[in-house]
Amino acid sequence: MNQTTGTLYIVSTPIGNLADITLRAIETLKTVDLIAAEDTRHTKILTSHYDIKTPLTSFYEYNKITKGPYLIDQLKKGKNVALVSDAGTPGISDPGYTIIRDAINNGINIIPIPGPAALIAALVISGKPTHRFSFEGFLPVKSGARKNKLKSISQHETTTIIYESPHRLLKTLQDMLEVLGDRKIVCARELTKKFEEVKREKISELIGHFTKNEIRGEFIIIF
Ligand code: SAM
Repeated sequence: MNQTTGTLYIVSTPIGNLADITLRAIETLKTVDLIAAEDTRHTKILTSHYDIKTPLTSFYEYNKITKGPYLIDQLKKGKNVALVSDAGTPGISDPGYTIIRDAINNGINIIPIPGPAALIAALVISGKPTHRFSFEGFLPVKSGARKNKLKSISQHETTTIIYESPHRLLKTLQDMLEVLGDRKIVCARELTKKFEEVKREKISELIGHFTKNEIRGEFIIIF
């Protein structure tokens, strides 16, 4: 390992409740030279809350091609960089993976600062078996591809965790009903936040509920 290069810290941050952050995460964010954040305005809420004065720079899906090399250059020059995402653990269903891969390819030291990850918070309260599970992230956007993915997932013998956005939730539930049958699943919404809600119901019942009520917030489906 080249000792003159900086270190890339992969820092987990809260998935909603600002108190869900480790002491080591705060210390790291205070002492690095630069924080690379998915959305700097969003991360500013966290840094202001904890009086973290480190400069922020954006690293997100649509600037990762140009921003990635800049961050690697900073690390090569000896700067320490913390990577954070909007919520939870960077690299899990967000652009973090590419910078981590590029840092490895450039011989840069990488240190994880573990903490919240939405999928783990949802899994452990789901009541589904936790000894083996499969995390599928976001399903394909197009219904045909989504149904094919669900068909292949239905062969799994493990608990499955899916991330879903509010505007696609109903469509995904409808595809799930068609492919998986009317089984009981878990739908976790807004974990750690004011409107946290966990529903353990049949897919048809969830479709009924979300047809009648406005769909708001962040969702995780587990079955
Ligand atoms: N890196 C994050 C992590 O560690 O879980 C995930 C980022 S991904 C872009 C965002 C998705 O995570 C949301 O669409 C939702 O499915 C899930 N998510 C994040 N925070 C959540 C929360 N508080 N409650 C429920 N789901 C959440």
